[in-house]
Amino acid sequence: MALIVHKYGGTSMGSTERIRNVAKRVAKWARAGHQMVVVPSAMSGETNRLLGLAKELAPAKSDDSYSRELDALAATGEQASSALLAIALQAEGMQAVSYAGWQVTIKTNSAYTKARIESIDDQKVRADLNAGKVVIITGFQGMDEGGNVTTLGRGGSDTSAVAIAAALKAHECLIYTDVDGVYTTDPRVVPEARRLHTVSFEEMLEMASMGSKVLQIRSVEFAGKYKVPLRVLSSFTAWDIDIDDEAKSGTLISFEEDENMEQAIVSGIAFNRDEAKISVLGVPDTPGIAYQILGAVAEANIEVDVIIQNISKDGKTDFSFTVHRNDFAKTLELLKSKVVPALGAQEVTGDAKICKVSIVGIGMRSHVGIASKMFGVLAEEGINIQMISTSEIKTSVVIDEKYMELAVRALHKAFDLDQPVN
Ligand code: ASP
Ligand code: MG
Repeated sequence: MALIVHKYGGTSMGSTERIRNVAKRVAKWARAGHQMVVVPSAMSGETNRLLGLAKELAPAKSDDSYSRELDALAATGEQASSALLAIALQAEGMQAVSYAGWQVTIKTNSAYTKARIESIDDQKVRADLNAGKVVIITGFQGMDEGGNVTTLGRGGSDTSAVAIAAALKAHECLIYTDVDGVYTTDPRVVPEARRLHTVSFEEMLEMASMGSKVLQIRSVEFAGKYKVPLRVLSSFTAWDIDIDDEAKSGTLISFEEDENMEQAIVSGIAFNRDEAKISVLGVPDTPGIAYQILGAVAEANIEVDVIIQNISKDGKTDFSFTVHRNDFAKTLELLKSKVVPALGAQEVTGDAKICKVSIVGIGMRSHVGIASKMFGVLAEEGINIQMISTSEIKTSVVIDEKYMELAVRALHKAFDLDQPVN
C-alpha cells in the first residue's frame, strides 16, 4: 500500500463524463489498496472564462486590490471541479472529501496571481486518508497569512500536486494530462519524435523552461528540491486498463542517473518562439555597462534570457540579449527613452522574429563535441546562428524564426532521437 497523488489537468476534467472517468480511475487505484490524494485543475476553459469576465468589467491592472479579486475569482474553478470529482467518487461508492487550498491549509506568500507555497499542513489530509477516504485538494491555490485566497500562476495545479506529494512524502506523483508523456521533441514538428520512458529531473527542467509545455516549470523545480518522483501520463487511456501497466506508462522524471536510464547523449530538442532579441549598439566599453542596461531591464521586472557582449573595437561594443516577446516593445521603449541617452550608446535595434532551439542531455556533461556537432548540422542546412548559450547539459542557439522547424528536424535526426535507445 502506498500513498499516491494523482493530478488531472483541465482537459481531463473537461466534462461530467470525463470527471466520471477520472473518478473510476481513482477508485480503481484506491481499491487496489493505495491511499489516494487527487489534485484537479479547473474544467478546461474555465479559468480563461472567469478571468475574461473580470476583464469585461475592468481592464487588467497590476494593483494588489485588483489582483486579490482575480485570485478569489480564478480559484473558484478548481473548487468546483474538486467538489464535482468528490461527488463522482461518492457515486462510485467511495468515501471522498474535497478541500480548497485554504481549508487544508496550503499557506502561500501574498504575491497574488503568482504566489509561492510556503507550507502545507498535512494533518487533516492524513486523518481522512487513515479513515479510508479519497482526499481531493484544489490545484492552483492557497491562502496567505492574512487569510486571502491566492493562486500560483497559470498551470499552477502541477505545482500544487507536487507540493502536496512532497508534504505527504507520497510514493509517486502522477500527472495525468492530454499527452502520454515527455517526448524527444514536439511530435507536431517531428512526427518521428519518441516518448521518453525516463528523463532526469535536470533535463526536464531545461526542457520545461524552453517550451516543452508539459509541466509548469515551478512544479519541476519543486520535485527536484524535495525529490518527489514524478510521472507524466495520459488520462485518455481507458480507466480500467491494468493498474500495473498504467503505473509504468508515460514518462518518469527521475533523480538518479540509474542504470536503466536511457543513455542517449542528447535526450531532447526544445524550442520556443516566445523570445525577441534586442541589441544595444555602440556602447562605451567601460565597467558597469552590463549592469546599467540589464539593471534597468530587471528593475522593470522584465526577465532576460540569452545575453552576449561582443569584444570591443575603438572602445565601443555591442550588447545583445533576449526577452519574452510580450516584453519586447516595453524593453525597446525603456532602452530608447532612458538607458541609451544615459549611456551614450549609438542605437537600439530589435528583432521579434527569432526562435531559440536547444539540445538537452545530461550525457553532454561527459561527452565533448556535442555543441560543435549541433553547429555543423545547422551549417549544413544553411541556418545562420545569431546567438549561442550553453550550460552543462544544454546548448541553445538563437536563429531566424522561419528556420525553426527545419533546425529541429535536422537536429532530431542528427542526434538519432528517432531511434529507440536501450
Ligand atoms: N486552472 C489553472 C489554469 O488554467 C491552473 C491549472 O490548470 O493548472 O492555469
Ligand atoms: Mg497544465
